Amino acid sequence: TDKRVYNFSAGPSQLPVEVLKEAADQMLNYKGSGMSVMEMSHRSSTYQKIFDDTKATLKKVLNIPDNYKILLLQGGATQEFTNIALNLMANGKSDYIVTGSFSGKAAKEAAKFGDVHIAYNGKDNDFTEIPTQDQLDIREGVDYVHLCNNNTIYGTEWNYVPDTKGAPLVVDMSSDILSRPVDVSKYGVIYAGAQKNMGIAGLGVVIIREDLVKPHPANIPVLSELDTMLEKDSMYNTPPCWAIYMLGLVVKWIDEQGGLEVMKEKNEKKAKLLYDYLDQSDFYKPHAKKDARSNMNVTFTTPSKELDAEFVKESIAAGMTNLKGHRSVGGIRASIYNAMPYEGVEYLVNFMKEFEEKYK
Ligand code: PMP
Repeated sequence: TDKRVYNFSAGPSQLPVEVLKEAADQMLNYKGSGMSVMEMSHRSSTYQKIFDDTKATLKKVLNIPDNYKILLLQGGATQEFTNIALNLMANGKSDYIVTGSFSGKAAKEAAKFGDVHIAYNGKDNDFTEIPTQDQLDIREGVDYVHLCNNNTIYGTEWNYVPDTKGAPLVVDMSSDILSRPVDVSKYGVIYAGAQKNMGIAGLGVVIIREDLVKPHPANIPVLSELDTMLEKDSMYNTPPCWAIYMLGLVVKWIDEQGGLEVMKEKNEKKAKLLYDYLDQSDFYKPHAKKDARSNMNVTFTTPSKELDAEFVKESIAAGMTNLKGHRSVGGIRASIYNAMPYEGVEYLVNFMKEFEEKYK
């Protein structure tokens, strides 16, 4: 069928239809260049303009101050787990706040290269919470403190910026960047894989305070040298050209929608619809504690594993997809990023009501 489904994938995830249409329109012949963006030299003036416009629009939309630089790199967020540790641990010490799977992976990677202290570990409460400031055991004088702003798998999200005792804060925003305004100046580094709110896979976006880019240590892989990448404006080698072009279309779309205040408003409205329904139901059980809930990934269970599986099965038949929770936690997960329309969540909630009626 040619009908598009409501796609609740955690990533790669649904893109705005307007963005897909624009990419399709430009597919064979980008603005009279006679070729697709996929076929273009990254050194051409046509591509350079796409690249520069993408960065400029991202800077505008996210309100990035002038003393921050944008790097557009290959390798997704996981590559940045490595790059951050290799480049920023000048004194060999960093603290990691572990609130889920990806922050755990980031910490594990960094521990290969230095003295990594786990300032908090949410494992004991099944990653249902975000720690309060007084739960954080942050050391004095570390090179940086790392956290993951939105835990894609567990469905929890930070709603404050913790005090790090003066150390720069490095934040993985893979699954909530561009979903709401943030004060970039509070962070040392913001990084994200692009395949949720920023477009498609293959691109890692790094927003870094200029003074944190130091001469790289000897003997690290050249593609991990953030100073080299900055000096070459992310084009030491061929960048992920198509993914950067798609990011450009996505940030232009966000800008046209009215920017991040509008995204925030829409995302809060969608999440509220779903959480309000979950809260009044005795059938469904949300995973995250109330004050830690994510507006991007909503996680919950039905009364049994069998019903979870049935839910997923029937949701597919009803025209929805990717509602199965991550294999490590089970249950149901609805990822409702910027591109998910309100009607998609409404449709899901109606389905949930019917399912509850049928099986309660
Ligand atoms: N961090 C977060 C919060 C994520 O959700 C993901 C992937 N879903 C990653 C890191 C890993 O990203 P990538 O697959 O781009 O390496």
